[in-house]
Amino acid sequence: MVRSSFLAQLSAIVGIDNVLSDAQVRARFETDWTGRFQGQATAVVRPRDHDEVIAVVQLCIAEKVAIVPQGGNTGLVGGSIPLRGGIVLTTALLNSIEPINNNTIRVGAGTTLGDLQRHCAVAGLRFSVDLAARDSATLGGMFATNASGLNHLRFGAMRENTQCVNVVYGTGESVINASVDPLCGSEGMFGIVTSLELQLHKLPDETSVMIASFASVDDAVSASLSWRNNPRVEALELFTNEGLSLVCESYALSPPLPSAEAYLLVEIFGDVSEFAQLLAATDRVLDTVVAKSEADKAKLWRYREDHSAAINTLGPPLKFDVRIPPQNCAAFLQATSRALTDINPALRVINFGHIGDGHLHVNIVGAVATEQIESCVYDSVTNHGGSAVSEHGVGTLKVDRFVKESGAAKIEALKAMKSRLDPFGIMNPGVLANVQL
Ligand SMILES: Cc1cc2nc3c(=O)[nH]c(=O)nc-3n(C[C@H](O)[C@H](O)[C@H](O)COP(=O)(O)OP(=O)(O)OC[C@H]3O[C@@H](n4cnc5c(N)ncnc54)[C@H](O)[C@@H]3O)c2cc1C
Repeated sequence: MVRSSFLAQLSAIVGIDNVLSDAQVRARFETDWTGRFQGQATAVVRPRDHDEVIAVVQLCIAEKVAIVPQGGNTGLVGGSIPLRGGIVLTTALLNSIEPINNNTIRVGAGTTLGDLQRHCAVAGLRFSVDLAARDSATLGGMFATNASGLNHLRFGAMRENTQCVNVVYGTGESVINASVDPLCGSEGMFGIVTSLELQLHKLPDETSVMIASFASVDDAVSASLSWRNNPRVEALELFTNEGLSLVCESYALSPPLPSAEAYLLVEIFGDVSEFAQLLAATDRVLDTVVAKSEADKAKLWRYREDHSAAINTLGPPLKFDVRIPPQNCAAFLQATSRALTDINPALRVINFGHIGDGHLHVNIVGAVATEQIESCVYDSVTNHGGSAVSEHGVGTLKVDRFVKESGAAKIEALKAMKSRLDPFGIMNPGVLANVQL
């Protein structure tokens, strides 16, 4: 139970307009992107700078109020939602972008990826971690989940593209230019990242995009295994007829190619003539469509990037974001779909993902989570040498899986770090290892 003076004290720190306590205004901060997770916050607080974050954390320590850091709220594992009450601290106003310096840039944690991309493009540079939720996802949230995304194959994840961060720990202590670990991927359980220094890369002179169709998922995965080794390939994405039909139906799009079982979208550095090398490496391609102009490239990317939103139109999906060794992906997808259909032939399963790195998304629509469905997917992950925790992180959804996969020593180390950096247990309780102090 918070004291009635708490909201007034918050207002004194961040200004009355930046303490949102009205239930209707709070609602969008209390529900996740899929509509699957719902919580309730005492208030949503919008600090304007690093010092205000320090003061909010110190107040929450004194008042024993939990803090749920929130960026763009595009997380898919229930980590950004106040499921156990407390305040939501949104980084929306921490959105400064400083001048580029020697191919690095300092941005506020609440800067969206899209804003950063547009800013860097003017200088002929880019931030190389990219994902479909770019116009809402923030750099702070991406760092907190160690997001990887579409270009992971060539450029790595947030950890590899961040130099250092400014942070306010759960102790109230502020550290400027803190090192990337242990914060990267810690999902707000130690503190609030207020700004980041990021590594930039030169924008390629030219890129080209192709969608190729295949008679089976097996054929598409087999082609991806040879294409992923080509140094010109920077993105390699898999989707199937099931997902493509839903995207086309949801957004009134014509299919890019005659109907087939599976598709690969590939983006390369260079002009379209480079695709000849990829096509020569496999005889399994049925049809291709190639885009060179920016508008045509964006059109082809839509078929893949609109999958998550199209799936959401059918109601909150069950999402399994898993990592499978690339050579086992075809067997995993086949075995999992078969096992799910054996449970219930009416289950609609839509698979897609970053096949180049084996980051796959198994989506089940129109079903509620049951132990049988979860075990079916996770047993298949184990049988195919994969991990149940992948690029979306752990949040509150996968705590049990994370603990199981991590082993006792890692969990003990997290616990020790939690008691040092957040000794009052106010920072995003329940996420990751759900460490109780
Ligand atoms: C359409 C769509 C496509 C996606 N594609 C990908 C993809 O390709 N790859 C991928 O990795 N993810 C993807 N995601 C998931 C999501 O976009 C990422 O997890 C992203 O990193 C979340 O950023 P956010 O700003 O929305 O964070 P939020 O959802 O607000 O928060 C995520 C977590 O980070 C914590 N957090 C947020 N900001 C801070 C901060 N400043 N300091 C400390 N902790 C903080 C939160 O407490 C929470 O635990 C996708 C999501 C959608 C909806």
